[in-house]
Amino acid sequence: MTKQHFCSAIDNENSLLIFDEDDQQWQLTLMKIATDDDLENNHHLENVGDIIEQITIPVNFCPYCGKELLNNNSKIASYVCHDFSHW
Ligand SMILES: [Zn+2]
Repeated sequence: MTKQHFCSAIDNENSLLIFDEDDQQWQLTLMKIATDDDLENNHHLENVGDIIEQITIPVNFCPYCGKELLNNNSKIASYVCHDFSHW
């Protein structure tokens, strides 16, 4: 079962804070979701709600409420960024 941090400050449509079992670390994922305006301005996008951009970063604390999140991993922090707005 995936552990997820919920707090009132997180906009759950555009962000997610979960514990990644493979990397053994808490990861914050922020997404830009396509709107009608985005579809009009970018012909590569097909549907409202599609993810345009997504970035995932490891975190030790919730950046919104400050709660400390226990990581079992001491890997150097890195991030993953996906840009789905073109190909
Ligand atoms: Zn929080």
